[in-house]
Amino acid sequence: MTEIGLFLVLFVALFVGWAMGRKNSTKKNKQTKKSIPTDYFRGLNHLLNDQHSEAIDAFVDSLEVNSDTFDIHLTLGNLFRKKGEIQKAINIHQNLLARPEISQREMRMVQLELASDFMSAGLLDRAARLLLNMASASRKSEFHPKILTLLVDLYEFEQNWEKAIQIGAELIKETPIKKEIKRLAHFHCEVAQELKAKEQWKPAFQHYKWALDVDPSCVRASIGAADVLNSQRRYRDSIKELKHAVEQDPEFISLILPQLKECYQKVWGSNGYIKFLQEQNQKKPTTALIVALVQHYMETDKDYAEMFLVEQLRLHPTIKGFKELINLQLSDSEGYNQQHLVVLFELIDQLVQAKHKYQCRQCGFPGHQLHWQCPSCKSWGTVKPIHGLEGE
Ligand SMILES: [Zn+2]
Repeated sequence: MTEIGLFLVLFVALFVGWAMGRKNSTKKNKQTKKSIPTDYFRGLNHLLNDQHSEAIDAFVDSLEVNSDTFDIHLTLGNLFRKKGEIQKAINIHQNLLARPEISQREMRMVQLELASDFMSAGLLDRAARLLLNMASASRKSEFHPKILTLLVDLYEFEQNWEKAIQIGAELIKETPIKKEIKRLAHFHCEVAQELKAKEQWKPAFQHYKWALDVDPSCVRASIGAADVLNSQRRYRDSIKELKHAVEQDPEFISLILPQLKECYQKVWGSNGYIKFLQEQNQKKPTTALIVALVQHYMETDKDYAEMFLVEQLRLHPTIKGFKELINLQLSDSEGYNQQHLVVLFELIDQLVQAKHKYQCRQCGFPGHQLHWQCPSCKSWGTVKPIHGLEGE
């Protein structure tokens, strides 16, 4: 909807609101005659003169607060917040709160909007105070989950993970929504990551385990736990965690393979690792698996390695796989042929480097790095390695 379209809808909505207010008022007191307020015509005049901001201000002034117009006031406040005019949103919502005629339920609705206004304005202390008061005063109300959700949003924004975990746990106990369960697990992973950086292995591992208790599908927690075990030289346990991560989400296999290879080599040599690669490639081939297998076959039988790669490329064609094929051909070629292959290899390598490796499955945000929280839509665990011709 264009801006002018939006204002026209608003204009009609305000007129309807005024008319309804007038109708109810007439019912109550047939003797009282109500005319269209002058502010309304002032607003109309501003609208016709393309002074949109002044038009809305005038319309808001013209509309009295009653049960019929309450929703319009609330919608207007939200509209201002979404347009980034936070102070106007705050004024409208505070004006509503000052009205003695609004019900207890309506008051809670306005307070929730006001808390969102404070958060949008960066007034996080005020938002937190308001929400915490509401949370303790309306423990059993229908608004309690929404209050807790806003508090989690606030602590997440502040990166206050301990408080986010405390309120998040309370929230999923009340309403176990998948999105909230996922983000609570990631909050534990954030704490674990901080502890890992300080080499506090035991509490870091505990937080990864808590993350898995909250959300058993949290692949980040399994990869993180494996990393802690690796640092403690517990390679067998690390292998278990990494294999579990592959079961949780095979799309992350390219991330898991380097660490898995290292652990296998430290415990049993590479045989177990190769067997794992072959099994996984049978289930779901990816370039990371194919390239790892080709590198292994090259050590014993170069012809078989080449044959295997060509066959896999037919079944699962990718640019990365093609680059590996040129790499194999390079070692066998000489003279002009070799020079041509070098140019082709460099070209494909540049193409691979330029392509994004990761993408958010929620909003499509692409990137070269893995972010556990999408920088664009702020969803947790939605950024994953890209698959298909240009990816894995
Ligand atoms: Zn996203």
